Amino acid sequence: SLTTTLTLHNGVKIPKVGLGVYKVEKGTEAVDTVKSALDIGYRSIDTAAFYDNEKEVGQAIRESGVKREDIFVTTKVWNTDQGYENTLNAFEESFQKLGLDYIDLYLVHWPVTGKYKDTWRALEELYDQGKVRAIGVSNFHIHHLEELMKDAKIKPMVNQVEFHPQLFQKELLDYCKSNDIRLEAWGPLGRSRYLDDPVLEELAKKYNKTPAQIIIRWDYQHDIITIPKSTKSHRQKENADIFDFELTEKDMNKIDELNRDYRTGPHPDDF
Ligand code: NAD
Repeated sequence: SLTTTLTLHNGVKIPKVGLGVYKVEKGTEAVDTVKSALDIGYRSIDTAAFYDNEKEVGQAIRESGVKREDIFVTTKVWNTDQGYENTLNAFEESFQKLGLDYIDLYLVHWPVTGKYKDTWRALEELYDQGKVRAIGVSNFHIHHLEELMKDAKIKPMVNQVEFHPQLFQKELLDYCKSNDIRLEAWGPLGRSRYLDDPVLEELAKKYNKTPAQIIIRWDYQHDIITIPKSTKSHRQKENADIFDFELTEKDMNKIDELNRDYRTGPHPDDF
């Protein structure tokens, strides 16, 4: 169910399926979107300072009636705020906007060259202070992770990267698995650009599900944390209705083979 979790290397549990809120407009759209998801049973919300809707996410959580400790909240430090001091300040701002007593997961949004290691020291500090229950990175390749871990006191608990059938980053997934870093998929639906792929459609028919549900289930069976975004209740429900079927190993492989190294977003080395 939506309360099914994976355990991070520090023992903290994160729901396997959550809601992403990138491009959900601040104001009533963001409040309604998060309330609707919490109402359906989502227990993990992925926001970022850059999305400009942290205030609404916090408001929706407070007004939802769901207990704070039952919800997992992720936010991220934006690129222009990186570096040690800047990150501590940016965190304080996100913290105020969310209006929660703690954040569950704080991520370095992108590996800004020359800065991300100082940013990481700030995250370690916030973790030591107990303001965040877990810390991690986003859009890190293997070489970024290796560089970071040379001097890190704490190993990232999560790496959130663009990941979907046409960008099946097998090497990165294996690397994260062997280093106890959980991989989290952003843009899991490939931003809905190829949901009409014939293989996905064929599998959807076979399992009596939709292509979106086939992909989310594929993440689930790969033990990848996934955060599909939708502002619409019926789609939020659809994306959460993946717990009553199982893809065979052969069908999992079929989806793996859809990889084309296709990115909907920037390449982490050129951003
Ligand atoms: P996504 O792959 O989740 O696709 C979202 C789009 O797919 C929506 O706009 C919606 O129109 C459509 N959709 C949703 N459910 C559908 C369904 N069942 N059937 C058909 N279409 C459907 O893309 P995303 O929003 O970019 O990624 C998800 C989340 O990942 C974001 O909201 C954000 O929280 C996070 N993210 C993080 C980064 C990062 O750099 N760390 C970058 C992008 C996104």
